[in-house]
Amino acid sequence: MESFLFRIDSLAKEFQKRYLFKLETAYKKNKLIFPGKIAASGSQKVIGAMIHNLSVTKWIAYAKQPFAGPEQVLEYLGRYTHRVAISNNRLVAIDDGQVTFTYRDRASNNEKKVMSLESDEFIRRFLLHVLPKGFMKIRYYGFLSNIKKKQCIILIRQLIEPMSEQPDLVTETLQQIMQRITGIDITCCPQCQKRKMIKIRALPKPVWNTS
Ligand SMILES: [Zn+2]
Repeated sequence: MESFLFRIDSLAKEFQKRYLFKLETAYKKNKLIFPGKIAASGSQKVIGAMIHNLSVTKWIAYAKQPFAGPEQVLEYLGRYTHRVAISNNRLVAIDDGQVTFTYRDRASNNEKKVMSLESDEFIRRFLLHVLPKGFMKIRYYGFLSNIKKKQCIILIRQLIEPMSEQPDLVTETLQQIMQRITGIDITCCPQCQKRKMIKIRALPKPVWNTS
């Protein structure tokens, strides 16, 4: 605890002060947009009350040491540099100011579904994924593009050195992946950190009453 850079309650107060100041400034400059269902939330009265409530509430800043040092944090965040908000093939139609796209419903067995949104709302949601200034996204293309790289790399290897053997794919167990990314040994007892946990048996699968 004593090795933190700042006192955690000072950090929370400072964060609260700056956040609310920026929020209020943005509102006064008409930079906040209240589309669709939240249009009523944009009145002076509602915003004023909300900012007041937020300023009298005690904020908590959650900060802790990275699991296994800064390298693992970088690696974890690094994964986000490769994602895009939505890929072109998920866009189904653009008509009448509406954008229709496919998505996976996590609440319903990852089923593929279709959704339509007003174009303003679609753009608003899309822009939430735009990284802040100074952050970069990385996209591979050509022979390294995700869909093609598996076949392309095999082909390239054959063209460069026809007699060469394919290197063995590195396959990691879940335990090894967790260890590498978070530095946590998931077989270790989380309570005492000393003993190994042993699998005794698997819990039976729940049986749903479908009648
Ligand atoms: Zn233990």
